[in-house]
Parts: sequence; C-alpha cells; structure tokens
Amino acid sequence: MSLLEGRYGPNILITSLDKLFNWGRASSIWPVTFGLACCAIEMMATAASRFDLDRFGIFMRPTPRQADCMIVAGTVSIKMAERVRRLYNQMPEPRYVIAMGSCANSGGPYWEHGYHVLKGVDQIIPVDVYVPGCPPRPEALLDAFLQLQEKIKKETMAKEANPLPAARDSR
Ligand code: SF4
Repeated sequence: MSLLEGRYGPNILITSLDKLFNWGRASSIWPVTFGLACCAIEMMATAASRFDLDRFGIFMRPTPRQADCMIVAGTVSIKMAERVRRLYNQMPEPRYVIAMGSCANSGGPYWEHGYHVLKGVDQIIPVDVYVPGCPPRPEALLDAFLQLQEKIKKETMAKEANPLPAARDSR
C-alpha cells in the first residue's frame, strides 16, 4: 500500500484499488479495547449484545498492534495522556480515532477548573469523529462508527493534482 500511496494521480487502477481497500477497511474496523472513565461503560454497552457492534464488522481487540481504531472514552488526565499517545503510536496505519464524550472532546465538566485534565484529546492525537454527550448513549457511538465508515470510503491513495497549502491559523 505505502508503495502506491501518493505516487500516482487518479487513474483506473488506483481508484479501483481505493474502492477495494476502503470497502475492506470500512467493513472491519477493529478498535483497541481500553476505557478511561464513565463513558467507557457506554462503550462497553455498545459492544454488548443489545447494540451488537459485531454486525458492522467491528470487533474490539485487546492489543493496539491488531487495532486500527481508538475510542477515547472518558476523561484524559494529564498523567494518562502520554499513555494514550503511546497506545496510538503502537497502532498500525491507517488508524482512526473517535473522541467519545465531552471529557475526550474538550475536558467536559473539568474544562474550567480541572487542572489535571487535558482539554481535548485532539491536543495529543488527531481525531476523526467527535461524539458529544456526557455520557453519549450507545446509539451516538454507533452513529460515530457509521460516520467513520463514510469517511474511510472517501479515502484515496492518489496524489492530489494541486494540493492546497496548509491553512494558516488566523488567531
Ligand atoms: S463526558 Fe461525562 S460521562 Fe463521559 S467521562 Fe466525562 S464525566 Fe464521565
């Protein structure tokens, strides 16, 4: 894959391979199993029989080496942030991140006075889908997976013809 990635423009071979790889990836998202706080209980409920993630091809994996998705479910304390990033770094590419709940999105109830809490996990790892709520219900996490599947289906390994320069931060 990496041999082809970014080397050629869109053509019939690349776009056909894109469809094949994206279909495979979107149909077999394997999140690494870990939870940080109360949101993780909802994540576990989502994986259990009532909501049943398996029907989407989503299987929790107990090791980052076999996972391509990370659900950050819970409060990311400053102490834990380094461990979360280490887990992310141990996952093979391509990898995706779902920030589940207000704490992972922005610090949640600790946003103002929680000196020990990271104000959003996107400060240490890139996030693909944000799930609002405290805690979000399992249906919200299911919706996040559907959004992630749509995002994966649009990925391409073709080189962009005229890549735009990175947007400047105007602040
Ligand atoms: S967002 Fe709410 S439910 Fe989720 S970890 Fe934070 S405090 Fe707990």
